[in-house]
Amino acid sequence: MKVVIIGAGAGGIVTSHVIKKIRPDADITVIGKEKSIFIRCSSPYVLAGIDSLGKCKKPESMITGTGARLIHDEALSVDVKSRTVRTKKESFRYDHLVFRPGECLYDKNS
Ligand SMILES: Cc1cc2nc3c(=O)[nH]c(=O)nc-3n(C[C@H](O)[C@H](O)[C@H](O)COP(=O)(O)OP(=O)(O)OC[C@H]3O[C@@H](n4cnc5c(N)ncnc54)[C@H](O)[C@@H]3O)c2cc1C
Repeated sequence: MKVVIIGAGAGGIVTSHVIKKIRPDADITVIGKEKSIFIRCSSPYVLAGIDSLGKCKKPESMITGTGARLIHDEALSVDVKSRTVRTKKESFRYDHLVFRPGECLYDKNS
């Protein structure tokens, strides 16, 4: 069973762990567009100069430790007919797709 998770934040990490617990044989690929695993909770301390940016970064083993694969790339599109996620560099086939890309602000008028 191939699972692709878009988003390597808290949601993507937890989802990969839960799926591995239920289906240890699952072949999980987590796609995150940042160079590191970045947890946002400490960001105010970084912005205030109290902590370093390293405080927000977490080890990749949080994902790879369960046997899941971590891909540092941006998901650009999903073809639901062929069950394929296309990123900037490659494509990934899935049986199950999970969206955990977080939130972002946008201007609906732009
Ligand atoms: C200042 C601050 C303090 C907080 N403090 C707490 C706290 O104390 N306790 C708590 O429980 N929660 C806290 N939160 C909330 C917590 O950070 C969020 O609930 C959590 O980060 C949400 O996780 P997520 O995985 O849904 O989204 P995110 O953490 O936003 O992760 C989504 C990831 O998906 C990636 N992504 C998006 N689009 C793509 C794409 N197309 N391809 C590949 N990757 C993509 C993003 O780069 C990002 O890394 C805080 C948040 C903030 C901002």
